[in-house]
Amino acid sequence: MKAAVLHGPEDIRCEELPLPKMGKGDVLVKTKAVGICGSDVPRVWGRAAHFYPIVLGHEISGEVVKVGKEVKKFSPQDRVAIIPLIPCFSCSACQQGQYSSCKNYSFIGSRRDGGFAEFVSVPEKNLIKLPEKMSFEEGALIEPASVALYALMRGEFKGGESIAILGLGTIGMLVLEWTKLFGAREILCFDVVEEKLKIAQKLGADLCVDSGKRHLESTVSHILEEGVDLVVETVGIPATQLQALELVRPRGRVVYVGTPHKNVEFTPEQFEKILRKEISITGSWMSYSAPFPGKAWNLSTRFLAEKRIRADILISHRFNICQIRKAFEVMADSSVFSEKVMILF
Ligand SMILES: [Zn+2]
Ligand SMILES: [Zn+2]
Repeated sequence: MKAAVLHGPEDIRCEELPLPKMGKGDVLVKTKAVGICGSDVPRVWGRAAHFYPIVLGHEISGEVVKVGKEVKKFSPQDRVAIIPLIPCFSCSACQQGQYSSCKNYSFIGSRRDGGFAEFVSVPEKNLIKLPEKMSFEEGALIEPASVALYALMRGEFKGGESIAILGLGTIGMLVLEWTKLFGAREILCFDVVEEKLKIAQKLGADLCVDSGKRHLESTVSHILEEGVDLVVETVGIPATQLQALELVRPRGRVVYVGTPHKNVEFTPEQFEKILRKEISITGSWMSYSAPFPGKAWNLSTRFLAEKRIRADILISHRFNICQIRKAFEVMADSSVFSEKVMILF
C-alpha cells in the first residue's frame, strides 16, 4: 500500500509498505479522508514524533474492508470514522472514565501507525459508524469537532453567555460553530490572519479582531472593561495565553486547549489577575468521556451529519497521499492561508 512515512525530522516520504498486521479483534479500514492536525506539524518539521519511522494521521475516515474473527459490530463496506485514542480500560483513570489520562494508552497516528496510508488497522472499539448522509470529509472532522466541543464542556459554556475565542485554526472555528449553535450572547474571535477572520464572520461571529493590528486596546476596550464569561485559548503561545486573562470577566472561566510550545512568563501584575478576578482556569485534553468515546464524539457525529456543524467552509486544501510533503509545507508556511488541510484517497 502507499503510505507517507516519517523517517526523521523533515524527512517524510511517500512509499510502498506491506498491509498493516491485524489481530482477531481488529478491523482493516481503507482510508478515504484524513485531516492534518496542527499537532502533526511539529512532528514533521520538528522533533515532536515519538519514534521513527512512523505513519502519522489521526483524523481518519474510511471504509471497512476486512474484519478479524472476534469482531462483532462491523463488516466490510461499513463507512466509519476512527477514534484515535486506545486506552487500556483498566487503570484507575480509565475506570473513572478519564480515558485521556490513561497511564497505558496508545494513539493511532502518534504511538502506532495512523491514517496517512491507504489502509489502517484498528481495534473494533476505535470505530464509529458514519450516518448515511455523512461524507468522508465530514467523517474526518469528527475528531477535531469533538475536541472543540469537549473544550466547551470543560469550560461549562451555557447559552446566553459571551465568549472570546483566541485563534481561528480548525479548533477555534469549530468552537465558534458550537457556541453559535448553543446560543451565545456575543462571540468575539481573535486571530492575525485576515482570511480566517472573514470565515469567522461568515460563521456568525459578532466581532472579529485582528490581534496583529495596532490600536487593539481601543477596539476591544468595551470588552476589557466588562470581560467575557468564557475565554477559549486554542493557539498555545504566550501572547494568547496571557491575553485570555485580560479578556475574561471577574469570576469568569478560561479554558486552555492549544498545545503549548514555548516558555510562558508572567509579570506579577499579570499573574495577580488570576487572583484579583478570581478566574477559574481549566485545561482541556482530547475529547473523551464515559461511555467511550463519549458525549463529545456522539454529538459531533450527529451534528456534522445533519450539516448543523459546517465542514466544507473549514477545508482550505485537498491533496493526495503522494503530495504529503507539499501539504505539510502549506501548513507550515505562514504566508499561505490554510485552514483544514485534507489528504484524500
Ligand atoms: Zn489532533
Ligand atoms: Zn487506562
